[in-house]
Amino acid sequence: MSEVPRFWRESRHRYRLVGTRCENCNTLYFPPREICPVCRRESVGKMREEELSGEGEVYSFTVVHDGLGQFKMQVPYIMAMIRMKEGPLITGQIVDCSPEEVKIGSKVAATLRKVRVEGKDGIIQYGYKFVLKE
Ligand code: ZN
Repeated sequence: MSEVPRFWRESRHRYRLVGTRCENCNTLYFPPREICPVCRRESVGKMREEELSGEGEVYSFTVVHDGLGQFKMQVPYIMAMIRMKEGPLITGQIVDCSPEEVKIGSKVAATLRKVRVEGKDGIIQYGYKFVLKE
């Protein structure tokens, strides 16, 4: 019976934007942290999972023309720092638009995309990317 909850736990983290909030100082972290770097010992046992809406604004971005590894086939691509509605600043790729369409302050939403296919078993890894809203 213990397998089922673990499966749900893992897939929940993999397929959604789940961060952790420190109940001591109320800061939300993404990716999730087990310990708040500000409160340290006082945050032990006080980190609570919280799902992010996936909505945010472009804080800064850069157009990458040299693809490496998994990005080789995708150049040019847009890497951005996104200020999430809930506060955290996170890095992600913006897809489905040309670099000219992206501006500082553009509204974006997280979307689940295939990131890569791994190994001979063809396990597909998913991750979040961002698309421009409207
Ligand atoms: Zn804290």
